[in-house]
Amino acid sequence: MIPAAFDYARPSSVEETVSLLAEHGDEAKVLAGGHSLLPLMKLRLATPSLVVDVGSLPNLNYVRVEGDEVAIGALSRYCDLKRSPVLAEAAPIVAHVAGLVGDPQVRHRGTIGGSVAHGDPASDLPAVLLALGGSVKVVGPEGERTIPASELFEGFLETAVRPDELLVELRVPRTSGGWSYQKFNRRAIDWAIVAVAVAGNGGPPGVALVNMASTTIRAEATEAALAAGASAEEAAQVADQGSDPPSDLNASEAYRRHLARVLVRRALVEAGH
Ligand SMILES: Cc1cc2nc3c(=O)[nH]c(=O)nc-3n(C[C@H](O)[C@H](O)[C@H](O)COP(=O)(O)OP(=O)(O)OC[C@H]3O[C@@H](n4cnc5c(N)ncnc54)[C@H](O)[C@@H]3O)c2cc1C
Repeated sequence: MIPAAFDYARPSSVEETVSLLAEHGDEAKVLAGGHSLLPLMKLRLATPSLVVDVGSLPNLNYVRVEGDEVAIGALSRYCDLKRSPVLAEAAPIVAHVAGLVGDPQVRHRGTIGGSVAHGDPASDLPAVLLALGGSVKVVGPEGERTIPASELFEGFLETAVRPDELLVELRVPRTSGGWSYQKFNRRAIDWAIVAVAVAGNGGPPGVALVNMASTTIRAEATEAALAAGASAEEAAQVADQGSDPPSDLNASEAYRRHLARVLVRRALVEAGH
């Protein structure tokens, strides 16, 4: 449980961070809250030669409304999001789900940018970003680019954020319709065995699934059924179509498929569909 030796840098600006990442390439790893990276390093599943601690970068912890969107700084911690009055009004599902992540210690260290950049299919906030049809802003050596959530999650712990890029902001549309997040776990502080995010803006909602494949995925068959006028009950029956859930100590593949259908129905009903 002791990480391999590494060098440590604590840059004071986004530009300095990006130039360190560009210089060291795959050998460098960004450290935000550390709640996913440090366990991987202790297990020696990650052995970066340089850890770039972005914890002291200024101006990356904020939530503000910009037009029809809510902009969230990548270094915003779950505990800040849970308490944010701006989110409570403009995108309440984000605040609610931030309050369901792990335990108080995790919520006081973990960041929304870290959660999304890490790309764990069992994480909660990536599903919310996907259901809402949000996006992320990253800064790299060539400047800034925006990645839609639909193109972000590429594989297990793999995202479209390149090793030389820093994720600086997330954007979600302001929500006006009903929403729901159904997280099934055995104890309140556990990761989801399966979870479902439903969110939208009055029309057919976005529906995203946690832990039902190697990445967070949309329940596309359910979304299509809803758009064609199906009831919540009918749309939920196809929730696991196109998924590829794992079997592990917590649940078999068949049980996860069952959970997805049950949780999607509950979420759609709670969201008013
Ligand atoms: C006991 C425990 C329980 C947990 N329970 C849950 C849970 O119920 N639900 C849940 O969703 N999560 C859970 N987590 C994970 C937690 O949410 C992590 O905080 C999160 O996955 C990663 O965020 P972080 O800020 O800690 O990132 P870090 O661990 O610092 O980084 C994670 C990865 O993302 C990269 N990264 C971080 N920030 C950026 C950035 N701005 N730009 C580019 N790359 C970046 C890092 O290089 C690293 O590869 C749990 C963790 C623990 C330890």
